[in-house]
Amino acid sequence: MADKTLFQKIADREIPAEIVYEDDLCLCFRDINPQAPVHLLLVPRKPVPRIAEATPEDQELLGHLFSRVRLIAEQEGFATAGFRTVVNNGPHGGEEVPHLHIHLLAGRQMTWPPG
Ligand code: AMP
Repeated sequence: MADKTLFQKIADREIPAEIVYEDDLCLCFRDINPQAPVHLLLVPRKPVPRIAEATPEDQELLGHLFSRVRLIAEQEGFATAGFRTVVNNGPHGGEEVPHLHIHLLAGRQMTWPPG
């Protein structure tokens, strides 16, 4: 079996993290190096490496993740003020962890274009 990814280890409680939401398909925890007052990572339990490698079989999972964004934004209190979602993909995208994750950034005014 392939080695577990960092985020699988967090899901399996082998590495600590502050988990704010979880269900059968995904979990959401605080980023260890926050880039905003609120910085969460929403991660599928399935180790899809990155969005560019998601398959048609993952369609329902991707929909589930984005449906959880709303729920988590409301739960964590930043739905009304607004927030940013980011999915880094590959070297030019700035991806560091090869396990699909949606960044949820909130608590300050975001700027555009991103770096
Ligand atoms: P990316 O650059 O899109 O692959 O994002 C990876 C994110 O994982 C970065 O924002 C890191 O700060 C975050 N990260 C790395 N290790 C941990 C950890 N142990 N717990 C929580 N977040 C982490």
